[in-house]
Amino acid sequence: MDKGLCRDTNPTAAVKMLPTFVRSTPDGTEQGEFLALDLGGSNFRVLLVKVMAGGERKVEMENQIYSIPECIMRGSGSELFDHIVDCLADFMEKLGIKDKKLPLGFTFSFPCQQTKLDESVLLSWTKGFRASGVEGKDVVSLLRKSIRKRGDFDIDIVSMINDTVGTMMTCGYDDQHCEIGLIVGTGTNACYMEQMRNIELLDGDEGRMCVNTEWGAFGDDGALEHLRTDIDREIDAGSLNPGKQLFEKMISGMYMGELVRLILVRMTREQLLFQGKATPELFTTGSFSTSYIYTIDNDKEEEGLVSADKVLRRLNLDPSLEDCIATQRVCQIVSTRAAHLCAATLVAVLRQIRDNKAAEKLRTTIGVDGSVYKNHQEFSRRLHKMVRRLVPDCDVRFLQSQCGSGKGAAMVTAVAYRVAAQHAERQQILNTLRLSREQLLDVKERMSEEMVRGLSKQTHEQSSVKMLPTYVRSTPDGTEHGDFLALDLGGSSFRVLLVQVQSGKRRNVDMHHKIYSIPQETMQGTGEELFDHIVYCIADFLEYMGMKGRSLPLGFTFSFPCHQSKLDEGILLRWTKGFKASGCVGQDVITLLKDAVRRRQDFDLNFVAVVNDTVGTMMTCGYEDPKCEVGLIVGTGTNACYMEEMQNIELVEGDGGRMCVNMEWGAFGDNGELDDFCTEFDHTVDDCSSNPGKQRYEKMISGMYLGEVVRNVLLDFTAKGLLFRGKLSERLKTRGIFETKFLSQIESDRLAMRQVRSILQHLGLTNSTCDDSVLVKEVCSVVARRAAQLCGAGLAAVVDRIRQNRNLNHISITVGVDGTLYKTHPHFSSIMQETLQDLAPQCQVTFQKSEDGSGKGAALITAVACRIKSEG
Ligand code: ADP
Repeated sequence: MDKGLCRDTNPTAAVKMLPTFVRSTPDGTEQGEFLALDLGGSNFRVLLVKVMAGGERKVEMENQIYSIPECIMRGSGSELFDHIVDCLADFMEKLGIKDKKLPLGFTFSFPCQQTKLDESVLLSWTKGFRASGVEGKDVVSLLRKSIRKRGDFDIDIVSMINDTVGTMMTCGYDDQHCEIGLIVGTGTNACYMEQMRNIELLDGDEGRMCVNTEWGAFGDDGALEHLRTDIDREIDAGSLNPGKQLFEKMISGMYMGELVRLILVRMTREQLLFQGKATPELFTTGSFSTSYIYTIDNDKEEEGLVSADKVLRRLNLDPSLEDCIATQRVCQIVSTRAAHLCAATLVAVLRQIRDNKAAEKLRTTIGVDGSVYKNHQEFSRRLHKMVRRLVPDCDVRFLQSQCGSGKGAAMVTAVAYRVAAQHAERQQILNTLRLSREQLLDVKERMSEEMVRGLSKQTHEQSSVKMLPTYVRSTPDGTEHGDFLALDLGGSSFRVLLVQVQSGKRRNVDMHHKIYSIPQETMQGTGEELFDHIVYCIADFLEYMGMKGRSLPLGFTFSFPCHQSKLDEGILLRWTKGFKASGCVGQDVITLLKDAVRRRQDFDLNFVAVVNDTVGTMMTCGYEDPKCEVGLIVGTGTNACYMEEMQNIELVEGDGGRMCVNMEWGAFGDNGELDDFCTEFDHTVDDCSSNPGKQRYEKMISGMYLGEVVRNVLLDFTAKGLLFRGKLSERLKTRGIFETKFLSQIESDRLAMRQVRSILQHLGLTNSTCDDSVLVKEVCSVVARRAAQLCGAGLAAVVDRIRQNRNLNHISITVGVDGTLYKTHPHFSSIMQETLQDLAPQCQVTFQKSEDGSGKGAALITAVACRIKSEG
């Protein structure tokens, strides 16, 4: 199997593992009327299959058998297909469906090379067919041509399959666990649902496809030599295709009777049977039909012996009781060997499926058809028993296919129709989350306009993007030095840091820090509680570092929108990111902090700067790279800052030089700028948040919300029956259960589908299918892409503005970035950069990840301020 799946070894592999382009099994929601043609011998069938979904879920069939005269089987290809089409027309006429353009599935049981679901090239005729001009041609085109030639009806040929696939699909309708098809009849073959990523012959990594193993040819490369007997070699030598289909020749109905006969002949020759007297009948090839074995090898031994006697007498022999017993034994042995060989290969398939799913216990169903399996009770019993013995950890069900292959073709067609319809419906929904280049240019344009409005005194109040002055006027120059304290509040955790900055040759920054959590009730309690908690953490840190009593300069990274009129003051405009402590909005956070220090009466601090984390990030990167003049955060929330010309900052006096502006761009869209792009999912996420109507841009981009957007899309898909078979899990209804980190995990690597599966299991969706996983992954990727593109569009407005401020045709600039979403999502940064490059082609932007950004940044700003103070 592995050899057949691998591109390099496939040409020499005996087991060809042919892709069938059947990518889904039935899920029970299929419905409609389908035609099927079943051609595999001198008789062929035309069927009309009505598939009903919902409460009366069932399949109704009409069918008619037509024969193909010898002369047509051996005539020209066009005669053959014209004849088939005439029969089809006759059938449709009788049922009065000639004017409906029905979908048709075609079971064509000859060796084919399939290239699409509806394109299949005949490799060579078998079973007595010889129609000229068909080998090497696409059979579907030939059929279509004949239909066009006739001209009085039309059909939509959707799928071409072989009988094994038909069996799997027929059984799949009744049992959705069915993912293997097995035939043991005249010949033997099996198919199963393989992961696309294992099928190297095809591009594409996602989802599954049915692979037709063509396992009858197993052993043609010598792999079975140690098991083949003289008798097997004798059969092969006398066959029409010596050296070919060696496995099939040990197993299938076409050869089983012959195997028994050859053994009887040899035993007779060795005087072990019939007193050494053979008859011409016993010497005649094919005289011992496989069906004899079914009656002789019977669990009621007596009856079996009576049958043996009858059969042997028909061959003109005169068997004793011992002869009959011996014959029965031979039948048993031949059939048992076949059943066990078949079980062994099936187990290889089962193991492959189990490994693919990384399932500890596989629960699966095998759809089976074929005369040997159906008519020889002992064969099927032994097969089941051996499979269960070889894979005791798999729960395997065998399901016999009723009127398999024709119905199977209709089922494949029905599934293809269902998949196409669902695909269209899903894409329609996902398209609302996809943004065109024009839309992204629009976002950039609107962001630029809001920036101008935020900077201007007149429009500042109404603008959604606040463009707050930070009083940070210079990036580090490397001469800063000293010990500084830094606090970092604004996201998932609170940190206290000691930052030691050295200048000169030993230019370096050393840091010690401790992380403290902020309980939900403190985040949303009173301001006093929040700031007391913060001061408690500082005290603990000073104690821990043995620094109580030293009054170091302190920088406070406070990552919420603040109005600043100097460096060491920040009036909180509003809380974001889930914070809600009362009595803080409108207050200076440094005063609140000083008050809390005073209440504690334990130590004193020297407050120098309030800093937004975005600014901290820019400063940290600026310490390494002087071209860094933009800071960007994509973590719990999103925000950006950049160096703006003083003359444009109307809220601050003075026209010379530059100042860093904290954009607070998360609020972009709060005046409706994003309404054209918002989906129903964005509205739901916004409505259910702690700040409805606010931070609209942030809610489409940042870590706090992306998981929620995905969860809402999944809920919608499920409610519409497009996912998880329409079954909602209670857990998925829980807000926040789909974490943003899942988006990263799901999109991360080649094992992605396993990741999706285990995440879905964690969400209580234990019965999800592979198709479900593919869709969940697609949703994650669409939502993350949109976030990255929106972010890129905003950034394009920023860098283009900097370029225009400086009257440059071209600018090269660095953006310092921080935030777990940006840093860990596998595609976020590349999509964002792609978008940026596309929307701001005159800017060459380098991204630098900030390590340990915001706390270090606050210390650096404090250091810069201290330097400037000492210089002044
Ligand atoms: P903050 O912005 O609060 O300072 P982070 O930058 O660490 O903190 O961002 C935290 C956010 O990142 C959370 O909202 C979380 O959902 C998200 N997140 C955590 N892990 C991942 C991940 N592996 N991939 C994407 N997002 C993640």
